[in-house]
Amino acid sequence: MAVTQTAVVTPVHPVTPPKKVKRPRSAAERKARLEQILAEFDRLFPAATCALHHRNAWELLVATILSAQCTDERVNKVTPELFKKYPTIEAVANAPQEEVADDIRSTGFFNNKSKSIIGAARKILTEFNGRVPNTIQELLTVPGAARKTANVVLGTAYGIASGVVVDTHVQRIARRLDLTKNDDPVKIEQDLMKVLPQDRWVLFSHQTIHFGRQICIARKPRCANCPLDPICYAKDKTLV
Ligand code: SF4
Repeated sequence: MAVTQTAVVTPVHPVTPPKKVKRPRSAAERKARLEQILAEFDRLFPAATCALHHRNAWELLVATILSAQCTDERVNKVTPELFKKYPTIEAVANAPQEEVADDIRSTGFFNNKSKSIIGAARKILTEFNGRVPNTIQELLTVPGAARKTANVVLGTAYGIASGVVVDTHVQRIARRLDLTKNDDPVKIEQDLMKVLPQDRWVLFSHQTIHFGRQICIARKPRCANCPLDPICYAKDKTLV
């Protein structure tokens, strides 16, 4: 999952070394710091949303399953033909697995993904009257839909804040910003759900993913361009 807008360009400035950044000591300071982070995200990415092309919850579910270990751009190249060839959930449910695998080959892990997509179609037809369910409990029973996928579908297709999408960007940035000390995505999500207001869960994920792609990148984060530098004490800040 990703976002499509362009970030506001921020000026280059000397980077504050991590040890010189004052850590929040009290709950009030932590709250104020989080509000600053959210305000900067809003300034940078006010309308961040999902970049996976889709027209309904089913298409978003399929696109999200395909996006595992694959770029959104690649998925967006594959899905138009896929949805044209299989225009309904029934068409996917009845499709030969080898053929679907071939159709999605360029997204990688195509055997597992094709099994998940066909399994999801069958489950939705037989147990949910052909409609992608809109609760996290039900979605988690659908093949291919773990928490991340379920949160993407609920948040973007249904506008339901059931949790926080934790992908590789959210995982890294939540740790750099000291919003979690965990490595496990499930635990990170729990930490974020505790500190973030529920009405920020969906937008925060989109904004963080964008922030991770443009500024707080995995290797050599662009700290000199980062408006969060004055409050960031991440050990791996880039000081040059
Ligand atoms: S880019 Fe990342 S590591 Fe660097 S100052 Fe910003 S939040 Fe901190």
